[in-house]
Amino acid sequence: MLNDNCIFCKIIKGEIPSTKIYEDDDMLIIKDLNPQAKIHYLLLPKEHYANILEMTEEQSVKLAKCIKKLSTMVDELGLEEGFRLISNKGKYGCQSVEHLHIHILGGNQLADKMC
Ligand code: 5GP
Ligand code: ZN
Repeated sequence: MLNDNCIFCKIIKGEIPSTKIYEDDDMLIIKDLNPQAKIHYLLLPKEHYANILEMTEEQSVKLAKCIKKLSTMVDELGLEEGFRLISNKGKYGCQSVEHLHIHILGGNQLADKMC
């Protein structure tokens, strides 16, 4: 189920343009508009839920499948030297879009401390 007021749902529906890296029935991987590393992609589940607290069992199974698929695409995505996956949640996590997403960062050496 998608949400009419959600920017990532609009991207999934094609109502807002994005640079698509990969798409299947369960997810879209796009380039982040404001990259924080040489490679900065966003993995968007195609169902709208805000974060892992709102995720159903079924959605968690789909998300695990998406991450497994991502693991098979590491070389073609240019992430063979390593990468970082981040999913921000809530105020302290600085989440700005309330549709669960996983940041995929890599392509260069990342800072060794998160904060
Ligand atoms: P958050 O801050 O919620 O963890 O991450 C949201 C991310 O979405 C940010 O890194 C931001 O740059 C990205 N973003 C926001 N709006 C758009 C958009 O319209 N297109 C794309 N490709 N990325 C977006
Ligand atoms: Zn959404």
